[in-house]
Amino acid sequence: MSVLDFLATNRRQLTCRRHGVIDNTEAPWSCSVCGATLRAAPDLTSVDIRADLDSRPHSMFRFRELLPIESEPRAGAYTGWTPLVKAHRLGGVLRLDNLYLKLDCYNWPTYSYKDRVVASALQRALELGATTVSCVSTGNVGNSVASMAAAVGLEAVIFYPAGLEPAKNVVSLVHGASVIELDGTFDEVNAICRRLAMDTDVPFVNLTLRPFYAEGAKTVSYEIVEQLGWLQPDHVVVPTAGAALITRLAYGFEEMSVLGVTSGPLMPRIHAAQASGCAPIANAFAAGKAVPAPVVPDTIAKSLAIGNPGDGSVALEVISDSSGSAQAVSDEHILAGIELLATTEGVYTEPAGGTAVAATRQLVESGAIAPDDVVVIIISGSGLKTQEVNAGVLGEISRSSTDYDTAKSLFLEKAGRHG
Ligand SMILES: *Cc1c(COP(=O)(O)O)cnc(C)c1O
Ligand SMILES: [Zn+2]
Repeated sequence: MSVLDFLATNRRQLTCRRHGVIDNTEAPWSCSVCGATLRAAPDLTSVDIRADLDSRPHSMFRFRELLPIESEPRAGAYTGWTPLVKAHRLGGVLRLDNLYLKLDCYNWPTYSYKDRVVASALQRALELGATTVSCVSTGNVGNSVASMAAAVGLEAVIFYPAGLEPAKNVVSLVHGASVIELDGTFDEVNAICRRLAMDTDVPFVNLTLRPFYAEGAKTVSYEIVEQLGWLQPDHVVVPTAGAALITRLAYGFEEMSVLGVTSGPLMPRIHAAQASGCAPIANAFAAGKAVPAPVVPDTIAKSLAIGNPGDGSVALEVISDSSGSAQAVSDEHILAGIELLATTEGVYTEPAGGTAVAATRQLVESGAIAPDDVVVIIISGSGLKTQEVNAGVLGEISRSSTDYDTAKSLFLEKAGRHG
């Protein structure tokens, strides 16, 4: 069955959070009224996620009954269950006593949160009998699709906007994916891909399969809650682009609450972190608007450079329902955030993570976060794929000849052993 046939015949499983069952012939993965991605939401009435905890896998499929998959996971069997670490040294700088980092920069197999959503979508693609998959990406989705498609024997065709970080192209190509770069912004490439998704029978993991893709992101919140000892944190700071992550994080915390397994607040306050060069959600939040106005991105945070976020209005809704906020931070502060995280915690993140660190600093300074609040920052991707952004702000390499005495005096100087 083609994915479009599947979406047409399974409409009742897929609902808009606000508008219920929707028949959208233009883009059947989203609501025709508000544009939000439809939900493939779980039935929570007969779920006992704390049963047999010891025998459950330490992966994103730990609570697989909460995900829209029907068969044994083949894609992403090792994805998820990333470390949640207490950040003592960064917490010292930011004056936060209970600061945690959710390190999806160490996700399997391509070092970003996208490994979760792509695993969830590919699992569905396999269940529907697809042999080729496609996607539209700012970099990390393409990397996850390339790697995971190779591992399960699917062909992959990936669409990118121009000007992507070189390493992200390499990671896609080395796994044998076809990469198509269109000369435009992500939003322009996305518009083309939406048409292709409707005109052809190739499933796009983040368009046609988007309801299944997005649900995979809820696993970040399930893990945070369990790793905190079944506690809901007070605040979560989330790098935000198309807003699959921030909306599904909220749904994940909400599901844990409904299941009655958590202590602490019913829901954390959810804060979006955006680059000021591409802040449609933060702009709308500041202006008190319910729908973000599209922008043309101009920022070093390329994985966040979506000017017309698909789930932007739902993001604003979950932010306001949770008494959260949306922050915009400059590229300069993003770079400072990357460096601060690396030098205090030994974690090298890409600009998206630097954006979340900078936004957290801003929230502390404005008093929105109190010193003893339990705060989790989502570090959503690795700096190893975006090294060129740090080139201008690094320390210098010291050089010497191989003459022993020259090398020794340089060493003593650097090691602080003078005279
Ligand atoms: C895609 C991405 C995000 C934002 O995710 P959305 O679901 O599009 O909001 C954040 N961080 C990284 C590293 C990403 O690749
Ligand atoms: Zn709707």
